[in-house]
Amino acid sequence: MDQNEFRKRTKEMVEYICNYLKHIESRRVTPTVEPGYLKKLICNEAPENPEDWDVIMCDVESKIMPGITHWQHPRFHAYFPSGNAFPSIIADMLSDAIACMGFTWAASPACTELEKIVLDWFGKAIGLPDEFLTLSEDSKGGGVMQGSASDCVFVCMLAARTHAIKRLKQRHPLVEEGTLLSKLMAYCSTEAHSCVEKAAMLCFVKLRILEPDEKSSLRGQTLQMAMEEDKTMGLVPFFVSTTLGTTSCCSFDNLSEIGPVCKKFPSVWLHVDAAYAGNSFICPELRRFLKGVEYADSFNTNPNKWLTVAFDCSTMWVKDRNRLTSAFIVDPLYLQHGYSDAAIDHRHWGIPLSRRFRSLKLWFVMRCCGLSGLRNYIRHHIRLAKKFEHMVKHDKRFEICNDVKLGLVCFRLKGDDHLNEKLLSNINASGKLHMVPALVRHKYVIRFCVTAPNATDEDIEYAWEIIKEFASSLLEAKEN
Ligand code: PLP
Repeated sequence: MDQNEFRKRTKEMVEYICNYLKHIESRRVTPTVEPGYLKKLICNEAPENPEDWDVIMCDVESKIMPGITHWQHPRFHAYFPSGNAFPSIIADMLSDAIACMGFTWAASPACTELEKIVLDWFGKAIGLPDEFLTLSEDSKGGGVMQGSASDCVFVCMLAARTHAIKRLKQRHPLVEEGTLLSKLMAYCSTEAHSCVEKAAMLCFVKLRILEPDEKSSLRGQTLQMAMEEDKTMGLVPFFVSTTLGTTSCCSFDNLSEIGPVCKKFPSVWLHVDAAYAGNSFICPELRRFLKGVEYADSFNTNPNKWLTVAFDCSTMWVKDRNRLTSAFIVDPLYLQHGYSDAAIDHRHWGIPLSRRFRSLKLWFVMRCCGLSGLRNYIRHHIRLAKKFEHMVKHDKRFEICNDVKLGLVCFRLKGDDHLNEKLLSNINASGKLHMVPALVRHKYVIRFCVTAPNATDEDIEYAWEIIKEFASSLLEAKEN
């Protein structure tokens, strides 16, 4: 494809995207295909000769689109939002065209420096303490972008593990690292995202999963008792992963209690996973949920979840960047450069070497929307969630199952889990709405998340009408 054709096809693609988004409501929110559907439609071999662009685009519409779950659909209320703001799409296009690999400062200085600046902007905007930022020359902290929240948790756990082993090795020089590793214990609550369990599995460390309180919040005392018990058994607490805005029900662990507990144990790394909720702290009135963050060693949130930025954009900050990077440093000659001492090299901040110019899209979105625009977006979603909660509360057949603080409402029909499973499967099978379930305090609940970027009051009212309609049919059928 030459530049002239690129111009032509890009314009066509922009038209296709605009039409797709404008008329997305005419499509079913979820596909009706079965596993393996695409294999039947697409050749087994890659084409030997170039194919015509129009034929490829025809296949997009006839073969790919039927297998798409439309996350931007106004009837999509599953999971959490997935950003697709136009400035973000355009910035990603520029990033793909520049196609630099920002692993060292020298590999593309602007790529490294913009990431540092934008992470300071964003960290400041969500009210993180200055220690997490690189604002002053003598600051020890800093932010970095990772591919996902799972990466953030994994990377922090790996760094914490390295330091714990190093510390133990100093005290017990004759004991093998493998033996020391077998003593390490990490902690989280049952409400933590499964990525914590996965990180522990990959780090080869034990994980103790604790029961939160009746508001699904992990409390200091529960953690303290578990850590003390483990210590008496000869185990070494080294990492605590807390959540602000849990996936199941958007609950908040009690950092103000957990922080001081962690301080009682030498070198325990306290991580805060705020993948969804963290974005909302750009609104000053929501920063009360951030209370206790000053105790944390690291913090992550995903602008690709709730700040309209397209995947992948996961932002992570640490208070002590050397504590993070020293766990990842390997230094072959071909990656060294003249400014290694003065500049930041992001290759030491995580697992991959090569890195996309991801900060461009966050920079574009923050500049095009302004913090005020982004605050309006967050507040709008919260208002709609509250509206939905209000409607559910006024129907005596239903109950609300979470403390609705942000854009997620968990609800269920009064009755058993089976009834609610049936309600959700009937609704999802109809293709009229899409929601997913969760277990909250061991009960099956239906999660209703406000996700569409331009969600309206009518969308929320429509969703509630559909839910009521299916509930009435189900309850009637049960009675007969
Ligand atoms: N942490 C929390 C609290 C989440 O809600 C999620 C996903 O929804 C994750 C982590 C995993 O996010 P990612 O897909 O970016 O790894």
